[in-house]
Amino acid sequence: MDLDLTDEQRLWRARVRSTLDTPAIRAELTALEASGEAEPDVRALYRLLGETGLLAVDWPTAYGGRAGCGAAEAAVVAEELVRAGVPDTLHVNTIQIVGRFLLSTGTHRQRHRWLPGLARGETFACVLYTEPGAGSDLGALQTAAEPVEDGYRLTGVKSFSVKADLADVALCAARTSTGAGRYQGLSLFMVPMDADGVRRSTLDGITDESFHRVELDGVHVGGDTLVGTEGQGWSLLLDALALERTGLDYALRARRWFGAALSGPAPIGPGNDAAVAETGRLGARINAAHWLARRVLEDQEEGGVDGAAAAVAKYCASETAQEVAHWAASVHGSGPHGCLSSDLHAAVDAAYREAPGLTLSAGTSEIMLDIVAAELEAPTGGAASPPPPGADPVLATLRTALRNTLAETVPDDAQEAPGCPARVQTVWEALDGLGVPLYETGTDQEGLDLGLSVGAAVCEELGRAGLPDPYRGHALITDVGGGAETTPAPVSLTGFEALPTGSGLTVRTAPGGTVERDGARVSGTVVTESVGTAPLAVVLAGPERPWVARLPVARSGWSPTTTGTWARVISFERADITPDDIVGPLGPELDRARVRQASYLLGVAEGALEQAVAFTGERRQFGRPIREFQAVGHLLARCTARLALLRAAISLASWCCDTGRPTTTAAVDALLLAAQTVPSVTSHAMHVCGVRALTTGLSVHRHYRLAVLDAARLGAAHHLSFLAGRGRSSGGERA
Ligand SMILES: Cc1cc2nc3c(=O)[nH]c(=O)nc-3n(C[C@H](O)[C@H](O)[C@H](O)COP(=O)(O)OP(=O)(O)OC[C@H]3O[C@@H](n4cnc5c(N)ncnc54)[C@H](O)[C@@H]3O)c2cc1C
Repeated sequence: MDLDLTDEQRLWRARVRSTLDTPAIRAELTALEASGEAEPDVRALYRLLGETGLLAVDWPTAYGGRAGCGAAEAAVVAEELVRAGVPDTLHVNTIQIVGRFLLSTGTHRQRHRWLPGLARGETFACVLYTEPGAGSDLGALQTAAEPVEDGYRLTGVKSFSVKADLADVALCAARTSTGAGRYQGLSLFMVPMDADGVRRSTLDGITDESFHRVELDGVHVGGDTLVGTEGQGWSLLLDALALERTGLDYALRARRWFGAALSGPAPIGPGNDAAVAETGRLGARINAAHWLARRVLEDQEEGGVDGAAAAVAKYCASETAQEVAHWAASVHGSGPHGCLSSDLHAAVDAAYREAPGLTLSAGTSEIMLDIVAAELEAPTGGAASPPPPGADPVLATLRTALRNTLAETVPDDAQEAPGCPARVQTVWEALDGLGVPLYETGTDQEGLDLGLSVGAAVCEELGRAGLPDPYRGHALITDVGGGAETTPAPVSLTGFEALPTGSGLTVRTAPGGTVERDGARVSGTVVTESVGTAPLAVVLAGPERPWVARLPVARSGWSPTTTGTWARVISFERADITPDDIVGPLGPELDRARVRQASYLLGVAEGALEQAVAFTGERRQFGRPIREFQAVGHLLARCTARLALLRAAISLASWCCDTGRPTTTAAVDALLLAAQTVPSVTSHAMHVCGVRALTTGLSVHRHYRLAVLDAARLGAAHHLSFLAGRGRSSGGERA
């Protein structure tokens, strides 16, 4: 699945594609390919692209941008360049990093001096931060920028810069003063690469794109090359690095390599279920990382730079791309025994060689985790704390109302099982009081028609509070055709555990009969969170497709049993289900149910993580809060990143549902990521809370148990992975 776009963006993509398909550009691309060089000089191609006005579409028109284009359109261009086979590093360095930084921070004169040439593909930029003694720790950089009468004199050595050989100008970090502290006295300069004293050399390496060493030997630059205020470079550097860390280029690499590997003579296919499932898992992650990167880009355009959000996006996309490269090599073999054509073999081999650099460039994964960990904060207001800033305002208001209502009306009893009937009823009454049952219902049924993203938010909030979710069952029954008015009570969602393979409750109909006409006789066992007065929404694995029945709890023929667990097991032995019980066949409604379920699970993990963050900030061992130990902080940061990826998958799936796009891939992806992520995150949350997590002194155990209880509802992870991989490996995402 390619990420879906709005209708306007689709038109834009078609325009970009046809521009890239013009004979001059095609001829240049063919010539580059025919050159056989690992790192050909692509400047002539960029000049052609510059003439078409495609390089910097989101910049103001005065600097070479296009009217009406923003971050979303720029992301589409970046995607299409990669798709057409344009080597993208010059674009990333010149336009996405240096150009965007100048746009946000440069003076009017600096912008006029540099930006139009960069946008036309006539001048190119590189980045000079790293030094032999300063990698992750840029506070240690030594390059000196000594103020002189008419500017500065730069002396030092920069290393591991890419494309420095082709660049006309470099964004360079240097020290304008010493002594005040390692993060003070830093400044940023636009250094012309043809200035006297600039010496470039190439380092031998294993990747197709070479690293360069740049020696600055008393390079004289004018005062107008200083970007921002002298000595205030540290905060600007952090902003510049955040602009670099949207994750988009990594997500696009992952997508390109994934497609290349799938287009080989695939050992991934029928008969190799494990490989198909792995394809599904990776495909789901790529889509989520790509969606997350787009959101970060758009947020940067609207509200400035959020360093932690960028770090999460970069971490997720680069780790995913690295995993894809390793997977591609292991599936096809990158050695001489690989089974690919020579072109594809070269692509997989290049990906494998590039992979180690992905989690180092633009800040290593550990540094990303440091940034995320430093921003972790315990929620200040407990259950009623407001949702994070930047959220959609309607959703934010709704969430706040829901949080406050739940905090006020549902007693917080960690001892009590979430599915205890009284608790389910109280939660339902709270939801009903807010009108939640009508949120997603269509206006033809006197509902509010607010869309799936709102329903998903309701489920997330219930999960976050560690409460049962009677809304899911209600919404499914309404979707399938039960009608809001026929479901005035909470509904327990059950019997769906074995979807999509359908080995749950087996249905026997009368000979020649159908589920619809004659009702059914069922045998089997289902697990439910609650056996109270709430009816059960049960899926029946019919002969051809699943059906949904809405069953009263008390009827002879089935017997709720407690097994000492929170979950109640209900056994059906040749139990009669009448035609009146049957709501309808389960079709596309399943996708919506999957998204709600994924969202509920996301909330469960968020609730556990919030408690873990709060606890580890208070608990002191060895003289300091345990969250300050990198092992603990990084674990929590990794969980935060994994939940951000899951949130992106849910947002993509909700958006697809709400805008009438095909949803099954996105919905399966979301639930798959939830089923894999949430039990692991809740288990890490338990771990960092130590032994207290096992007692009712903390309520994190409630989320932990909810995660395992609910992780397989609507499909176990291995079934979902297989489902997600089947479409992809059978051609859906081949290059
Ligand atoms: C493909 C690629 C392109 C690049 N392009 C450029 C460029 O154009 N311009 C430029 O200036 N630089 C560039 N770099 C350099 C890049 O910025 C550095 O590699 C990066 O900052 C890390 O520095 P280092 O490699 O020296 O690793 P180090 O900082 O020495 O780190 C080595 C290892 O130790 C870990 N580590 C370090 N500190 C900590 C800590 N506090 N806690 C936990 N772990 C830690 C790191 O995560 C890493 O795994 C590029 C690098 C790559 C791979």
